[in-house]
Amino acid sequence: MERDDDRKVARFAELVGRARSGVAFTGAGISTGSGIPDFRSPGGLWSRNRPIDFADFVRSAEMRREAWRRKFAIDDATRGAAPNAAHRAVARLAANGALAAVVTQNIDGLHGASGVPEDRLIELHGNGTYAACLDCEERHELEDLRAAFDATGDPPRCRRCGGVVKSATISFGQAMPVKAMARAQEAAEQADLFLVLGSSLVVYPAAALPVAAKRAGATLVIANREPTELDPFADLVLRGDLVELLAPFADRS
Ligand code: NAD
Ligand code: ZN
Repeated sequence: MERDDDRKVARFAELVGRARSGVAFTGAGISTGSGIPDFRSPGGLWSRNRPIDFADFVRSAEMRREAWRRKFAIDDATRGAAPNAAHRAVARLAANGALAAVVTQNIDGLHGASGVPEDRLIELHGNGTYAACLDCEERHELEDLRAAFDATGDPPRCRRCGGVVKSATISFGQAMPVKAMARAQEAAEQADLFLVLGSSLVVYPAAALPVAAKRAGATLVIANREPTELDPFADLVLRGDLVELLAPFADRS
């Protein structure tokens, strides 16, 4: 991948330097540097497994068994994944006041692990580090579910109400969390700078946020390894690896 020219990198630094209500909007691309595959890059999760729709998960015990099998396999493959320099840069910008919010499509919990405070973190697609009952919302720990699944092969049921238990993430076909979407929309509309970091911008409604932000007056920057459909609409497009692009803003650690 070619390096972005110096002029663009300088403009990026200047925009970040004067941001006061910025929003970082992140996708799977910010976590590939931590060893977690994205969906749409060659060899990504998408090319290996078509995602299971929410309706199929609810309807079929067989689908739930398959979903849990994949979930535990991915957890095994990504165990020990830690925030990378790009996550650390975002956390630092949230701490020094440049970013008012970090809105993520990721479910890996790495923004929280890198120190973004909860009141500035909006996880639009939930969090895959625990599970919840779809009926009574009782929280279930993965460790316990895993032990039972390995022993019986049966997809988990809620210990409290017997309902269907699902990883606390939003699947295709599942309604978006109303509160998180409202917080994200508000942050986008109040943003002076909106940074898209590592998202193919094809998953809606989340991908509508950059458009909302720009229409409300934000400067829109898209930093991604591959082109996105919104590139022509952006004020600045940076093409490259996020770990490199954001390294100047990260603490050295
Ligand atoms: P995506 O897979 O559709 O797109 C990721 C984008 O990041 C791609 O355009 C790719 O070119 C770019 N990219 C990959 N590595 C990069 C790097 N090191 N530097 C710069 N760019 C890089 O991801 P998405 O838009 O986030 O949508 C996928 C959906 O899948 C999301 O809704 C998310 O919930 C889920 N998902 C989450 C994770 C995770 O939590 N880490 C991983 C895979 C998928
Ligand atoms: Zn329950």
